[in-house]
Amino acid sequence: MATNRTYTMIKPDAVAAGNTGAIIKMIEEAGFRIVAMKMTQMTPDIAGKFYEVHKERPFYADLCSYMSSGPIVPMILEKENAVEDFRKLIGATNPADAAPGTVRKLFAKSIEANAIHGSDSDENAAIEGAFFFSSVEQN
Ligand code: UDP
Ligand code: MG
Repeated sequence: MATNRTYTMIKPDAVAAGNTGAIIKMIEEAGFRIVAMKMTQMTPDIAGKFYEVHKERPFYADLCSYMSSGPIVPMILEKENAVEDFRKLIGATNPADAAPGTVRKLFAKSIEANAIHGSDSDENAAIEGAFFFSSVEQN
């Protein structure tokens, strides 16, 4: 059953570039309610756990090193049809393929440093949200 929630994190490139506020504004203007949010930094080991599904992919080691290279802003978001609508708002993984006006088209630097994460299913949204937040931190 759809939970109407998704998990996102603003990635180190976008935080370092000072785009956190602009991205949060886009998220709110698109109708998402912020249920939980913080700033934190992953260790390489924690990034490795978060991205465990990708551990056989050639980009895994680089991705874990990049994702632990600076602060990130994890959030749980709520909206009807949250997972699908949020993937539309952020655009394709590779900013070169992302539609005009999407977060990645506007802010991503490369296919790796692509500004923002968005869960790909309701099941993963729940798993990923719980990875960063306990239920008492969710409003
Ligand atoms: N990634 C990468 N190289 C690739 C594909 C993906 O560095 O060829 C990184 C990128 O940061 C991406 C993350 O790995 O956001 C997870 O990949 P996935 O295929 O799940 O893309 P997403 O769901 O984030 O669009
Ligand atoms: Mg993904």
